[in-house]
Amino acid sequence: MNITMENEIFSITVPTPFQVGPVNCFLIKSDVITLVDTGPRTSEAEEALISQLKEHGFTLEDVDQVVLTHHHPDHIGLAGLMRKKGKRVLGHWKNDRWLEMNDTFLKQHESFMRGIYKEAGVHEMYFQHVHDVEGYLLYTDRAKCDVHLAEGDEVPGCPGWRVMETPGHAQSHISLLHERSGTMIAGDHLIKNISSNPILEPPYDNCTERPKPLLQQRDSYKKTVKVKPAFVYTGHGEPIDDAEQLIKDRLHQQEERSKKVAAFLKQESLTAFQVCQKLFPGIYKKQIGLTLSETIGQLDYLHSEGIITKVKSGENVLYRHN
Ligand SMILES: [Zn+2]
Repeated sequence: MNITMENEIFSITVPTPFQVGPVNCFLIKSDVITLVDTGPRTSEAEEALISQLKEHGFTLEDVDQVVLTHHHPDHIGLAGLMRKKGKRVLGHWKNDRWLEMNDTFLKQHESFMRGIYKEAGVHEMYFQHVHDVEGYLLYTDRAKCDVHLAEGDEVPGCPGWRVMETPGHAQSHISLLHERSGTMIAGDHLIKNISSNPILEPPYDNCTERPKPLLQQRDSYKKTVKVKPAFVYTGHGEPIDDAEQLIKDRLHQQEERSKKVAAFLKQESLTAFQVCQKLFPGIYKKQIGLTLSETIGQLDYLHSEGIITKVKSGENVLYRHN
């Protein structure tokens, strides 16, 4: 438990059926009681949430509102249940399409990913994973945000807690910063023991170009260093007490990986899928979505730095070293 002047924060760790392992949710006791993230919609997660709330002296009914750090199923799964219980759900508007999961969005997502895979030159055999939304369909309830949070907003009922938009891992991603104490709740924006993946998502209606998640993630990291958080609670694993060093390490690791990609392209022009196979030999077969997202992120980065050029080649795009 961490006690700041006007807030108490309680950590709650609930199991998930996902490879990442358990997810951390947080209870902020301020003017109102806020649950940050809910865990997936499984009976194990719900039981763990209820029993750990009880250990801290709370029930599910005591919770006034739920804040979502981002839309991934390990974080939003029980948001629908909480809404049914009359709790309001707060989050970035970019969560909405993932909470609603309507047919229009499902179709848009599938056709966007299909386009990405085609352009990247991915073998047809991997197209079965092109529309990987099973986690949402199995482990989340349909829900919506009652209140939208954006950059600079104060979390209602939580004086001193500010919203920071931290996209990269997810377009909807926000972190919460208690400015006076330097306490941050960072969701999956920053994780101590694993580097969080930049994930490709379709553009939003008001934008035609696809987001470039690795570039966004780098910006979110740099923005986080500027606010000098003293202590960072994260979505998975232990909290972080030296965020500045960790962010330096993450940026450096990414730059090193991009040098590797540049070296491949110096030898020959390649499609994103060919780069992915070289960068993640073996692993790409099991995790095509994540490894391709990471690879395209590195290519976006090299392209933005003026190191490589994109060349159209039939249905595919070839990347060429300048
Ligand atoms: Zn997560």
